[in-house]
Amino acid sequence: MEPEETEAGKCSRHRRPAKNCRACGTSARAQQQAAEAARRRAAQQAERDQFEELRREGAMRRAKADANPDGIQSAQQIARAAIRESLKRRESNK
Ligand SMILES: [Zn+2]
Repeated sequence: MEPEETEAGKCSRHRRPAKNCRACGTSARAQQQAAEAARRRAAQQAERDQFEELRREGAMRRAKADANPDGIQSAQQIARAAIRESLKRRESNK
């Protein structure tokens, strides 16, 4: 049996995974592939975390923006109402 044709973890020469054995799945290439896969998973997780953070930040900013115009509007309405009141009072004092 060709060691290179056996699946990882089913090595014919080693019962336990040995270093730098392709059949054990511990060859330099297999280790690089495993490291690459782990790196990719970590990068994807980091991307997801970043996306989630941005999404949360955006939602918070939108909530603030939604709340702010109302506050400005009501402040303007209050100011306008106060001006109307004072004008009305001035009219009635004539
Ligand atoms: Zn082996």
